Amino acid sequence: MRPGAPAEPLGDALPLPDEKTQLKRWYATAQIPSPMGGFLEPLRVRSEDDGSGMVIFECSASAMRFEMTIPAATRGEKKAVKDHQDAGEDPNCPRHHPLQRLNRVGPYLVCPMCGVRYGKVLA
Ligand SMILES: [Zn+2]
Repeated sequence: MRPGAPAEPLGDALPLPDEKTQLKRWYATAQIPSPMGGFLEPLRVRSEDDGSGMVIFECSASAMRFEMTIPAATRGEKKAVKDHQDAGEDPNCPRHHPLQRLNRVGPYLVCPMCGVRYGKVLA
């Protein structure tokens, strides 16, 4: 490793068990209980090349790290976002409640909590 090179601190995360239930909690902005006891603190949300997202958590009790995949947007979700854009409204994340505004990331509209691309910025 080059001296001064940044360490990759998030490279050793484990897949999060019970992903489906945990996803529901994530969309509801609820606390995520850790499989190790304590709670999972979100460290980072990132976008994958296929339009899906990934959240990295750290367990408050064990400091173990877990990763959770956020499925890519469905056709229906993309259409709902596009309809809001066409109506001149700022689209929200179709999954997050309370409402979460989508951010512009390059040409895409991305939920900062999901990392998922739900649409494209209108030209
Ligand atoms: Zn979201």
